[in-house]
Amino acid sequence: METKQTRRNFLRNGLLAVAGSSIATPVVAGSRFENNESPGEKIVYRTLGKTGIKIPIVSMGTGNTDNPALIKSALEKGVKLFATSEYYQNGNNEKMLGKALKGVPRDSFYIQTSTNGGLKIDYKNGLLKPGTDPDVYLKHADGCLKRLQVEYVDIFILGFAARREYVFYDPILKALQKFKQQGKTRYLGIGTHSFEPEAIRAAADTGVFDIVMTAYNFRKNNLKEMNAAIDYAASKGMGIIAMKTMAGAYWDKERTRPINTKAALKWVLNNENIHTTVPDCSNFDQLSQDVSLMADLKLTEDEKKDLKLSHDGLSADIYCQQCGDCISQCPESLDIPTIMRSYMYAYGYKNLTHAQQTLEASNLQQNNCSECAACQVECTAGFDVKKKIADIKRLRDVPQDFLA
Ligand code: SF4
Ligand code: SF4
Repeated sequence: METKQTRRNFLRNGLLAVAGSSIATPVVAGSRFENNESPGEKIVYRTLGKTGIKIPIVSMGTGNTDNPALIKSALEKGVKLFATSEYYQNGNNEKMLGKALKGVPRDSFYIQTSTNGGLKIDYKNGLLKPGTDPDVYLKHADGCLKRLQVEYVDIFILGFAARREYVFYDPILKALQKFKQQGKTRYLGIGTHSFEPEAIRAAADTGVFDIVMTAYNFRKNNLKEMNAAIDYAASKGMGIIAMKTMAGAYWDKERTRPINTKAALKWVLNNENIHTTVPDCSNFDQLSQDVSLMADLKLTEDEKKDLKLSHDGLSADIYCQQCGDCISQCPESLDIPTIMRSYMYAYGYKNLTHAQQTLEASNLQQNNCSECAACQVECTAGFDVKKKIADIKRLRDVPQDFLA
C-alpha cells in the first residue's frame, strides 16, 4: 500500500511527475502472488501502468449494487478499486459507495468515477456534439466528489470515449486537466465500449490520460484489433482496466443459460496487459467467486468448453458487438448499438434503471421501426434487430420509480 496520500501531497507529486514526464519510463505490466491483508487469501497484483499503483487484478464495478455491506465485504477480501459513476442510479450509487467507505482510511482503497453531465454525445458516430459544455462538466465532476464524500478520487474517467476526435476534444481535455491540477483526481482515464481500438490508441497518444477502461471479453469479434490497441497503450505506459468482462452474463434472453462468468473473467485476465477488471458485482456469492479465481487463472478444459459455446447458434441472443455495421443499413439511422446495449443491461444484467438510461441516450422513439414491414438490417451477430427493438422499447415509458 502506498504511503498516506493527502490531496496536497499528491498534487505536489503529480506536478513533479508532470515535470519529469519527458524522461519517465513506462512501468511494464507484471503480475505476482502476494499475501493479502485478509489472512488466508491470495491475491494477484499487477501494476496499473505508469501510475505505479499495484492493484489486485479483480476490482469491483459497483453499478449493480445498492448494498454498502457488499462494499465492506469486498474491502475485507482485499479488493482495492471501486468503480462507480454519476450515471449509475442517478448519482445514488456514488452516495452509497461514499457511505460504505466513510471512516475507512483513505489510503487503503481507490475510487474511480465519471460523469456525462455537460457532454453532448453523438453515440451513433462516437463524437462529442456542439453544445458540450466544459463548465457544466466540471460542475458535475465536483458533484461526484460531494456524493462520494471525498476530497479527491483516484481515477476520473471520460466516459463513452469513441472516435479519436472525441478523445482529443480540447475543451474537455482542458477541463479534465484543470480538475486534476486542482487536486480533485490523481489520474485521468477514458472509458470506451464502441470504436474501442481507436479510442484506446487516441488516449495513449494524448499525453493527458493514464488509464484506459475498455469493454473486453471472449465474445468480442474484433479481438485482433483490440489486442493490438491494448498492447500499444500498455507499451506507452497506460494502465488498462477491463469492463463488460461477463459478456452479457447470460446466453439467452430468458436467462436459462448463464455464461460461465468465472471462466469469462479468467479468460480476460490471461491477457497480462489487462491490469485489473471491474466486474459488476451484485451479491456475496459473486464477490467470493470473483476474488477466489485469482488463486488459479488457468482455464480448465471444462471452462474452455463452456466458453466455446460462443460459437453455437444461440450465442447471438444478448451480446452486441457494438460494431456499428447496422447503422448505415437502417433507413431511420437508429442508434442500434446503444439500443442493443440497453437490451443487454435489461435482459442480461437485469439492471433496468441502467437499461432505461441507455435507451434514453439512444433517443429511440415509440414510432421508430413502424414504417418497415421487414427489418433491413443484416446484423453481423445475427440479431433480429426489429424484434429486439420492439422488446426493449417497452421500457421507454415505465416510470422510474417502478425500476428503482
Ligand atoms: S446490432 Fe449487430 S450489426 Fe449492430 S452493432 Fe450490434 S452486433 Fe453490430
Ligand atoms: S425495422 Fe430495422 S431497418 Fe427498419 S427502422 Fe427498425 S431497425 Fe431500422
